[in-house]
Amino acid sequence: MAGINNNAKLDITCPQCNAKFNKTIRELKGSGVKCPKCGIDVETSNFKKGMDEVDRELKNFQRELGNIKIKL
Ligand SMILES: [Zn+2]
Repeated sequence: MAGINNNAKLDITCPQCNAKFNKTIRELKGSGVKCPKCGIDVETSNFKKGMDEVDRELKNFQRELGNIKIKL
């Protein structure tokens, strides 16, 4: 079953100190992200909400693909 690649890395810019760092999607979906430079918790709830929507769309898409009958 295809889906989001949880090992894909995303660039994040710290909202407080503007440090740039990478986190995997798995880390972003998990318990939370801390800036490695200043240590603040980076807000990820919007990201999680977006990912949930992508997940749902992918599942819908796959279900529809399964319903398509191709004549050869
Ligand atoms: Zn920071």
